[in-house]
Amino acid sequence: MKPLALFSLLALPGLAMASVTIHEELYLPGATPESVRELIDAGTVEIDHVSSEGLELYGPRGIGRYLDSKNLVYLDMRAIRKNTFADYPSSKEIVEKLQALARKYPRIMSLVSIGKSVKGNDLLVMKISDNPTVDEVEPEFKYISSMHGDEITGRELSVEFIDELGRGYGTNSEITELINHTEIYIMPSMNPDGSDLRQRGNASFKDLNRNFPEMTRDTESTPVGRETEVQHVMRFQASRQFALSANFHGGTIVANYPWDAKYDAHPLEDFVKELSLGWAERNPEMAGSTEFPGGITNGAAWYIVKGGMQDWSYVWHNDLQITIELSHQKWPNYSEIPKFYQDNRDSMLYFMKQVHRGAGVKFGRPSVEGTIDVTQTAPAPKNLGSYAFKGSEFFKVLPEGEYKLTVREKNAAPKEVSVRIEKDRIYPNGNYTRLN
Ligand SMILES: [Zn+2]
Repeated sequence: MKPLALFSLLALPGLAMASVTIHEELYLPGATPESVRELIDAGTVEIDHVSSEGLELYGPRGIGRYLDSKNLVYLDMRAIRKNTFADYPSSKEIVEKLQALARKYPRIMSLVSIGKSVKGNDLLVMKISDNPTVDEVEPEFKYISSMHGDEITGRELSVEFIDELGRGYGTNSEITELINHTEIYIMPSMNPDGSDLRQRGNASFKDLNRNFPEMTRDTESTPVGRETEVQHVMRFQASRQFALSANFHGGTIVANYPWDAKYDAHPLEDFVKELSLGWAERNPEMAGSTEFPGGITNGAAWYIVKGGMQDWSYVWHNDLQITIELSHQKWPNYSEIPKFYQDNRDSMLYFMKQVHRGAGVKFGRPSVEGTIDVTQTAPAPKNLGSYAFKGSEFFKVLPEGEYKLTVREKNAAPKEVSVRIEKDRIYPNGNYTRLN
């Protein structure tokens, strides 16, 4: 295919609204966003992992030639990755590992496919809970990894973590309690095609973490017209009641909290910062970061991401989500994986447990629809907004304290529920109040 003419890289009107096609994956040592401002403003490229050492630049064919014309130095990351570290499992081998784990721990694990990737690979999610094939009333938690196919560390850590949960059931009291009283979902690979190709985008060269509905430009959350893998994750999320989640990336080491798309404070900013710090302080390298104080950062303050999964998850599904960057190398030497697992294992368990810091309502009818106003009454009175719900349960993760939940169903008088949320405990089957 003929490379785009240089001028056309800077003159693609309206492209800022669409997703960028990624054929070139470049690293620019020493560059700042200002060095490539023309390309960013034209909406031709996206940047990622901006640091004091440089940045990553993603875009269509011709970007490298454009940089040559500006005398900017860059490395071709795909070419480097294709020639190194061949010892990782293929996506097919990851599927086999997950199937083996489901067979090994049938009492607590159930492997489900939520759809197929562009190339027909199953998008697998491991559900881990007591009675894993039954939908019980328990807080719902999830981890999703490797939506960027080249950010592989989280896929390996997710598989290892699933195995550790299996081994710990019945032998480790905290793991046992968590599995008994939580519905845990772990998706090690959201972009298996990208991982097989060792590239950021999916098989259509699209960045899945720029393809979700986004509050600053979309008024509704519809899967129509989005990338296949994003559509499947959107439908999966809509079918569940996730209250807390994290998604795993690589390229640096930091815990990143919302918002990503705008500079305003998140309604639960202090709380989500606390959870991010909780992750970071259990990971020595993250806690000791020289780039990010305390090992955490606000998304937008680092760099703006539009169309990311993190913001979408909270805005449309009341699912508080953070983004964990697990390793400086996106595709590290395979022999380093056990070290990354050791560094993150306690954080993975800590963060999962936080889904019990919350409260919910369970209705006696299957399909209830309305909104719930959340008001903190102690330690300080605070209005925390109104949240839409649909189905037979609602659950929200919140800092410890006392709350009033005002349930507003269509054509019915509002009902008030008083709840108390404590820190550091696992509530038997979650902290739910039953209503008819
Ligand atoms: Zn990423």
